[in-house]
Amino acid sequence: METAEIARRFLTFFEQNDHTVVPSASLVADDPTLLFVPAGMVPFKPYFLGQQTPPFDRATSVQKCIRTIDIEEVGKTSRHATFFQMLGNFSFGDYFKDKAIPLAWDLLTTPVAGGGFGIDPEKLWVTVYLDDDEAADIWRDVVGVPPERIQRRGVEDNYWSMGVPGPCGPCSEIFYDRGPEHGVEGGPVADEDRYVEVWNLVFMQYERGEGGAKKDYPILGDLPKQNIDTGLGLERLASLLQGVDNIYETDTLGRILQDAAQRTGTRYGAAERSDVMLRVVADHVRSAVMLVSDGVRPGNEKGGYVLRRILRRSIRNLRLLSGGDTAHLHGLTETAIGAMEGIYPELRAGAERIHEVIDTEEKNFSDTLRSGTALFNRAAERTKGSGATRISGADAFQLHDTYGFPIDLTLEMAGEQGLDVDETEFRALMQSQRDTAKADAKAKKLGNADISVYARLLEGSGATEFLGYTDHEGEARVL
Ligand code: ATP
Ligand code: MG
Ligand code: MG
Ligand code: MG
Repeated sequence: METAEIARRFLTFFEQNDHTVVPSASLVADDPTLLFVPAGMVPFKPYFLGQQTPPFDRATSVQKCIRTIDIEEVGKTSRHATFFQMLGNFSFGDYFKDKAIPLAWDLLTTPVAGGGFGIDPEKLWVTVYLDDDEAADIWRDVVGVPPERIQRRGVEDNYWSMGVPGPCGPCSEIFYDRGPEHGVEGGPVADEDRYVEVWNLVFMQYERGEGGAKKDYPILGDLPKQNIDTGLGLERLASLLQGVDNIYETDTLGRILQDAAQRTGTRYGAAERSDVMLRVVADHVRSAVMLVSDGVRPGNEKGGYVLRRILRRSIRNLRLLSGGDTAHLHGLTETAIGAMEGIYPELRAGAERIHEVIDTEEKNFSDTLRSGTALFNRAAERTKGSGATRISGADAFQLHDTYGFPIDLTLEMAGEQGLDVDETEFRALMQSQRDTAKADAKAKKLGNADISVYARLLEGSGATEFLGYTDHEGEARVL
């Protein structure tokens, strides 16, 4: 079943169950605490927090998501992408667990001819929160899941809150057993690579007070109205229904991956190292296309930095794979647009602009990649030659400042040679550069009252810390 058909079936199923179909919001979150939308519920946050009255009791959507927190997993696990799509159904004070659980099960297990996904119920496992007997009972007694395939898990996996006072509650997740060739027996608690998490059902039932994220906050009581928020990974379901090994081999990502293989003269399946690189390229090019389409531009801060980092990482991987300097991003961008335009027609309409942004970034980086790599190799040799394993922060800073190497790229290159980087020194150098720029801008402003664009930019951003990645719980990696 094609990805587009999976999305269509999902929306149709919930529409038939009285849900309003809501189009995806932009990847750029309308929310100061987030860089990008990491989950389907984000556009509905004001409803869940009681800040706005929803115009409907039930909604369903296919939401575009970016999870920067998963970037390092991409290509290595079978199931993590940077950009992915989350299918969801939502209840705002309407139905609760007793309906959400059987609905999810029905859709997954109803035969394809009957409008479902036709998954063999024997392959499905579920988890519930430690003390959530209510959910466990529904799974066992209403749905009929054998007790040995219902597992209990703690706060880390099966408890949800928004990180602020308001709704919180247990969740319940559905996993698919890919079989003994993918790992050890024992359910999701034993092996999350063999048992792939497909769908998370969140039951918002309590009101939490002030406190930290890890449930060290008081529970103020039951919510006056209980809510449902669910998230099912479209790419994950596609990989299972298409019988392929991982999400990068599905109909959409697979097209980009195969194109990257062909362009670089690499055979997918030939070696683990090049396979990972091809998967990273497929994921990153698609992510970049979706980000640019939603208005993000490469830059040195926040969302722009994430885009720059994934584009530059793609360019380097493509060069390593091909062993040459040929620019491949333009063609791959075109393939990614072709693979995604069925669901997102705006990609074709905006193709010219998307190409322009990505081509420019490729050109800018291509000019410095070779000389930067030479500098990196000398630094690595020097480090090893002296019997050390840590590349200096000064080298990393020069790579960043002169050659446009995002620090993550330098870290990755160091890692490939069994080295690491003095990040503390690197950060200190970045900070002092910012301080100098800020002081210069201030002096300029005071001296001739000329508020240059540059000065305004610095002031506007507060020129504080550089937020490279921000994950969905608001944790920031400060570079
Ligand atoms: P995992 O434990 O596998 O990292 P998760 O628990 O972080 O997943 P949730 O936050 O529960 O994921 O998100 C809901 C659903 O979205 C998941 O069940 C999965 O199907 C999908 N999903 C989450 N992260 C990714 C990702 N990086 N790439 C593709 N799909 C994802
Ligand atoms: Mg995760
Ligand atoms: Mg999980
Ligand atoms: Mg989960």
